[in-house]
Amino acid sequence: MKKLLFFTFTLALLFVSACQSEKDASFEDPCGGKAPGGAVGLLMSINQDKQLGLSAVNQIESDPTNFPILDSATNSVAYGHIYRIRNNILNSGKVYYKNEFPWRIRIIKDDKTLNAFCTPGGYIYVYTGLVKFLDNETQLAGVMGHEIAHADRRHSANQMLKQLGVQVLLEILTQGDPGQLASLGAQLLALKFSRTDETEADDYSVRYLYGTEYDPQGAKFFFQKIGGESSPPEFLSTHPNPDNRVQNIEATWTCLGSGGDNELFAQRYQEFKSSLP
Ligand SMILES: [Zn+2]
Repeated sequence: MKKLLFFTFTLALLFVSACQSEKDASFEDPCGGKAPGGAVGLLMSINQDKQLGLSAVNQIESDPTNFPILDSATNSVAYGHIYRIRNNILNSGKVYYKNEFPWRIRIIKDDKTLNAFCTPGGYIYVYTGLVKFLDNETQLAGVMGHEIAHADRRHSANQMLKQLGVQVLLEILTQGDPGQLASLGAQLLALKFSRTDETEADDYSVRYLYGTEYDPQGAKFFFQKIGGESSPPEFLSTHPNPDNRVQNIEATWTCLGSGGDNELFAQRYQEFKSSLP
């Protein structure tokens, strides 16, 4: 009986790892696309990414002065628009952790801040300032694709791992001390991405949008729009500008075959903007 159990267990493990490598292979493309990996892939579980993200979520949602979250029940029209954009991206088939992360999205009512961010584990926040500043849905889809990529590629989790070391980080997550988790969340919110991570997030925004109704170069249109600003928007303080950003996005799109839709959805976007308080 024991032998049979062991045999069944081994078979199940083989099946899981075969499915895993089949999934990973489907995320490869000739333009450098691949499944997320690196140190974080070996040292941290997906659940630990979510736990890490929740340490930041708790900081945000216990501080309505700095993060006035728009209620989703009383602003259902606005949320309907942002859910549509998020779902379009998630249904592209290109988000690796589509089913593992919650991808919960919240709008922050702050018209002065041109920013958006996504914590590890897929908790997305978009400021009304950013939504109102942009001209069309494809620009916003481009920046949301960029944010989703930071979580899907596990950029912040990887950076926290480097800053704190695996032992300290996993100890904080395992012990669950509220004080330590709060400072972890605060540290996470102050994190700046590296230029390499920025370039990768731009590349994946193109991949995600490729299979949607949006122009895959939405992120390029977003950067062209914020590039015209006289003072750099908040977005660039947490997402530093790598060199040749626009050219890199164009190159990724060209490498992928220069295809996809070329819709901008300016009209529908006006309806989204006017549904915001
Ligand atoms: Zn970024």
